[in-house]
Amino acid sequence: TRVLDEYESRTRGSLAAFRKAREYLPGGDTRTMTSYDPHPVYFDEGRGVRLRDVDGNWYTDFLANYGALVHGHNHPALLEAVHQRVELGTAPGGPTLSQVEHARRLCERVPSLDTVRYCNSGTEATMWALRAARAFTGRDLVVKISGGYHGTHDWSQVDAFVANGRLFPQHDPELAPATVSHGVPEQVLDSVLSVPYNDLDTARRVLSEWAERVAAVIVEPMLGVGGGIPADPEFLRGLREVTERTGTLLVFDECATFRVGPWQVWHDVRPDMTTFSKIIGGGLPIGVFGGRADVMEIFDPSGPDPVFHASAFGANSLSLAAGIAALDNFGPADIERLNRMGERFRSGLDRVAADAGVAGDAVGCGSISYFHFGSGEIHDAADVAARRAYRADLRRLLHLELLNRGFVTGRHGIMCLSVPTEPSDVDKFTDAFGGALRALR
Ligand code: PLP
Repeated sequence: TRVLDEYESRTRGSLAAFRKAREYLPGGDTRTMTSYDPHPVYFDEGRGVRLRDVDGNWYTDFLANYGALVHGHNHPALLEAVHQRVELGTAPGGPTLSQVEHARRLCERVPSLDTVRYCNSGTEATMWALRAARAFTGRDLVVKISGGYHGTHDWSQVDAFVANGRLFPQHDPELAPATVSHGVPEQVLDSVLSVPYNDLDTARRVLSEWAERVAAVIVEPMLGVGGGIPADPEFLRGLREVTERTGTLLVFDECATFRVGPWQVWHDVRPDMTTFSKIIGGGLPIGVFGGRADVMEIFDPSGPDPVFHASAFGANSLSLAAGIAALDNFGPADIERLNRMGERFRSGLDRVAADAGVAGDAVGCGSISYFHFGSGEIHDAADVAARRAYRADLRRLLHLELLNRGFVTGRHGIMCLSVPTEPSDVDKFTDAFGGALRALR
């Protein structure tokens, strides 16, 4: 009651906004993930690592729009790039040099990328990568990871959040229907096989049994929305080995994890295709899919039987201008710094949780972290589902209590560091986290 009372008294303007919003937007919002009881905070301004809400409260942002804003808010170089570009028009309806410049940077940075194409979101990027795989291989099935999140198009909604090895989406009672399967046709469910993360034996068995029919297996180097579980490198290498044998394309979804580093180099795995979004658009909408030149050739309109690819705002000049500045202002040294801070961050959270006598673990990799209440090993989404079922009440209150203390996190426990995050922000957050756990215990 105290947490809720304090939250409500701090966020009266947000409540008014929420009431108004519900007149026009079902649930008062557009994203299921950003909706929570009693009402979400409505933000008005972002500066660096700080966010201001409509009531004038300032927060330190440990969510960074689910990792998408690795540069924080209003980074000067990104702002400058957008200002300059906007004067010249936003989307001329034909190719621009900026897509060549952005594509060159990506292809130089990621060794497995021969060529790429653009769209507007991670959802579209994974949709296109899978369509490319189907068109290239002439096969119809897709293998995904239980709890692997690849956006919101139909096939990606299968087993998208938690897993029990079935070929159906799981209904997390905390998630509203929009993020699960209602509305996805049976035929789509039938065309997706899901396997547990980090379980190479099962993946090998499924990929071999269905070898003639599986176009692609899509995997995140770290299960992101599924709970912050880094892949066992042997799992990724094993997927590469079996897919090479079966002629199945291996697709890495790096939409979320690109901010953490060169996974393909670290693990010495060269996927056939990779998808990107979020940080590569510098705060504006973007999606990229690409990889092997012979696969991507199917999009060449001068080819014998090209796959149609359209998007009114794909590769728009504003996203690309921001994206070029984003890539130029987030190099290996920035990644290294944030990742080191992330390690310190997670050990700090573990320490204050232990001091507070609360069972829980900070997991993740580099600048992306999750906190899961409870105890036990976490290898796949089924483990995360069990953790999320444990003390769901505490998780909800912790999220609100952190907001009361001036920190934004994701309501399912995700926390992301960004370029403007300072070590002192991490220390303050860690103290607040410990204080919140002690208060809620
Ligand atoms: N793939 C991954 C790994 C993601 O984390 C996300 C978004 O969280 C997506 C795809 C979908 O991206 P978008 O929300 O831009 O459609």
